[in-house]
Amino acid sequence: MKKKAILIIYNMCLCVIGLTSCYAQNNDARPVSPFEFRGIYSPTNALDSIRDLFGTHHVDYDWGLWGHNLHKVVGENPDESIIATIDGKKDKEQYCFSSEKMYDLLVEYIIDNFGDGETPGSSTRISIMPRDNKKSCTCKQCVAAGNTAENATPAVTSMMRKLAERFPKHQFFTSAYHSTRTAPKEKLPSNVGVIISAIDLPMRVTFTENKGYRSFMSMVKEWKEKTDLIYVWDYSRNYSDYLSPFPCLKVMQRRFQLYNRLGVKGIFLNGSGDDYSAFDDMQTCILAKMMYDLTLDVDAEVQKYYKINYPETGKLIADYYLKLERRVDESNHIIPLYGSMEEEVASYLNVKAFTEFRTQLENAAEKVTGAEKEKLRYLLTSLSFTQLQMLALNPSDDNQQLKAKLIRQLEGHKDLKGMDNYGETDAVIDAYIQKLEN
Ligand SMILES: [Zn+2]
Repeated sequence: MKKKAILIIYNMCLCVIGLTSCYAQNNDARPVSPFEFRGIYSPTNALDSIRDLFGTHHVDYDWGLWGHNLHKVVGENPDESIIATIDGKKDKEQYCFSSEKMYDLLVEYIIDNFGDGETPGSSTRISIMPRDNKKSCTCKQCVAAGNTAENATPAVTSMMRKLAERFPKHQFFTSAYHSTRTAPKEKLPSNVGVIISAIDLPMRVTFTENKGYRSFMSMVKEWKEKTDLIYVWDYSRNYSDYLSPFPCLKVMQRRFQLYNRLGVKGIFLNGSGDDYSAFDDMQTCILAKMMYDLTLDVDAEVQKYYKINYPETGKLIADYYLKLERRVDESNHIIPLYGSMEEEVASYLNVKAFTEFRTQLENAAEKVTGAEKEKLRYLLTSLSFTQLQMLALNPSDDNQQLKAKLIRQLEGHKDLKGMDNYGETDAVIDAYIQKLEN
């Protein structure tokens, strides 16, 4: 089944269980956002109703060509002239951005799919990025444009200039990454921008006294001299564990404030994509609001969200979740982007407090009915994974009964749309369960 079709079914299911209908309280008049692009790559933000309500974007719907996807334009076996020259030889793993043929195909693709962008609402954003490796074309034309074996920015930005001139209403973005990390020498047209990754910025509340921060800042400064159109690609999940709590709201708020001070125009928050993630319903809504209001009161918003959307169990969930946020805030620990349970526990997840919370929530859920019951089913199934991971830190014979019970609960993921993986790659829940049972 196509990804879009799966997403539509998933969206329909979320609607049925009432996730969407409960957001009406957030429909306050929105302040003007300092960011023109507010992308969140999360299952909650994949819902049309959520994007309409919160004024957010999604790269699947609000971006003409996203990421490293030029193969959709030039084909899997592109014309010889589109293939890069590396060390004097043609190398299919990279493109030549001086290629006239590539330019012609891009023009054709843009006209066919989006037109010239002159009709109101039809302008779009197009990514012009080399393939995802460090190779840089050093054919005669690319070298003449300024390319070196490490730097492909000259040829890539030269292609973007041509496209920007041909399509003044569309925007063209490259990424400050691998061979295009270095900013160009000349100023770029107003509709040519760059996406800068925030991966070097440590995920903690105080993140300014370190090498990663200095490297991020110098990259922003360097590109800022050449373009006003700077977007940041940031990260809002533990990609090794989507199913456990990831208290990132207060950390993220400080990062948004920094981006605003730097004059960043757009944010792309890379979440768990289409995969379920614990607390994502609440976090997506609050992150969306934060993109409009940089001084949002996180504690009050979390409490308000749960009070309305989980009337029976909301206080219990909000109190527990906010304790995690507080711990990250006060300890200044790093919340790991690719963290094991051991690291999560060392950073913010107290085993005893978590176990007590999950047990209380499980008991409370028995008395709940309707839409809230269904939402709790998702959350408790997700958190059974967390507890299993915790048990694995200190395996003991006394835990066998509890372990069997938690496995049975986690097996319930089969009936929950969007909950098949516990992480980004090679992280299939069924395979995890199988491993535990052997
Ligand atoms: Zn070339």
